[in-house]
Amino acid sequence: MKRIVVVGGSIAALTAAESLRAEGFDGQVTVLSEEPHQPYSRVPLSKGVLAGRERAHSALLPAPGEDIEFRTGARAVRLDARCRAVTLADGTEVPYDGLVVATGARARRLTGGADLVVRTLDDAEALASRLATARSAIVLGGGFLGMEVATTCRALGLEVTVVDLVPPLLRLLGPWLADLAVAAARDHGIRIRVAPDGVTVMDEHRVRCGESVLEADVIVCAVGDVPNTEWLRDSGLLLGADGGLIADACCRVAPGVVAAGDVVSRQGRRTPHWTNAVEQGRAAAAGLLHGASARPYHPDPYFWTEQCGLDIKISGELPLTGAPDILAGSVNDRSLLLRWHHDGGSATAVAVNHRLPVIKLKRLGAGAPAPAPART
Ligand SMILES: Cc1cc2nc3c(=O)[nH]c(=O)nc-3n(C[C@H](O)[C@H](O)[C@H](O)COP(=O)(O)OP(=O)(O)OC[C@H]3O[C@@H](n4cnc5c(N)ncnc54)[C@H](O)[C@@H]3O)c2cc1C
Repeated sequence: MKRIVVVGGSIAALTAAESLRAEGFDGQVTVLSEEPHQPYSRVPLSKGVLAGRERAHSALLPAPGEDIEFRTGARAVRLDARCRAVTLADGTEVPYDGLVVATGARARRLTGGADLVVRTLDDAEALASRLATARSAIVLGGGFLGMEVATTCRALGLEVTVVDLVPPLLRLLGPWLADLAVAAARDHGIRIRVAPDGVTVMDEHRVRCGESVLEADVIVCAVGDVPNTEWLRDSGLLLGADGGLIADACCRVAPGVVAAGDVVSRQGRRTPHWTNAVEQGRAAAAGLLHGASARPYHPDPYFWTEQCGLDIKISGELPLTGAPDILAGSVNDRSLLLRWHHDGGSATAVAVNHRLPVIKLKRLGAGAPAPAPART
C-alpha cells in the first residue's frame, strides 16, 4: 500500500492515522476533514467550553505528526470502493490503496436545521453566546448529553427544564442509577418534564408538550445522533439497522476499507463514546495493514459523564438492571463504588464521585475482587 486515506477529522481519524505510523506504515497518510478546525475533543463542549470555564483552544487535540497530511475543509461526498477513490465536495478525486472511514456522527435535529445543538465547536460557541443573554432554557432529551447541557445551563444561572420522552431519564443507566441522577438534577433545581407522546418544536422559544406549551429563551436539542454515512450511499458498503457502517472484529468493512468510531455498527449496535473511538482507531489501522492476522478489536466499554455534581465513570456494558452491590460509599453522600452483575457472568463497575484509578475500575468491571474497605 502506498497511500492510505482517512476520512473524518476527530479522535477516531486522528488515532487511526497515528496508529498507521506506529504500526510501521511508511507510505502517504492523508486525513480529510470537512471541519474548518484542527482536530479537537468534543468532550468539553457540553461542559467547560459551554460554561465558559475552558477556552475553545483547550479542546484542541495534539496536532498530527508532520508525516501526516491533515486537510481541513475537505468534505467527502462519494466513495467509489471498486476504483478506490474518494470524491470531495469541490469535485477533487482522492485515490487510495487503503481507506479508513471515521466520519462519526452528527446531532439529530427535530426541526429543519434551526435547532441549537452541541456537536461541534461551532455549535458550542453559538449556544454559549445565546446562553450568555438568556434567563431560561428547555433541553430536549434527557440522555447523557442533555443532562450535561442542563447542568451547564443551570450553573450559568438559567432556569432549566429537561423534557424527555418516557421515564426513566437516562434509561441506559437503568432505574437505580437513573434515579440517583434525577434526584441530583432536582437538587440542582432542574425541572424535569416527561412527554410520553413526544414534543413539537413550535418556534425558537416554544415547545408543545402534550396539552401544554413550554416557553424559554433558548431551546437546546439533545435527542441523539445520526451516523455520517450519506457519502457512502452508492459505495455498496453495508449499513446496519442503526444507520452505522457494519465492521467486523478487526474493524474491516470491505477489501481495503476499515472503519472506526461513532460511525461504526458492530454486532448490531453503535458505541458512541470516546474510549471506543480511540480503541477502534487503533484496531482499524492494524486491521487495514495486517488483515485477518491483526489482533481483533477488544471492546473497552468505558465512559464517563459529569452532571449535576455527579462525576460518573462506568466500565462495562449497559443497561444496568436491578440493584448493584455497593462496594464503597453511600447513597446519602452521593459517593459510591458500585457493581452490577449481569446474566451470563459479566459485570459493570461504576464510580460516582469516588476517586479510583480508571484501570482499577476496569478491573472491577472485569470481575476483580472488591477493594477492602478503607481503615478509619
Ligand atoms: C458534546 C459532547 C460531549 C461528549 N462527552 C463525552 C464524555 O464525557 N465521555 C465520552 O465517553 N464520550 C463523550 N462524547 C462522545 C465522543 O465525543 C464521541 O464518541 C467521539 O467524538 C467520537 O469520535 P469520532 O472520531 O468517531 O467521531 P466524531 O467526533 O463525530 O468526528 C467525526 C469527524 O468526521 C468529520 N466528517 C463527517 N463527515 C465527513 C465527510 N463526509 N467528509 C469529511 N469529514 C467528515 C466530522 O466533521 C468530524 O470532524 C461526547 C460527545 C459530544 C458531542
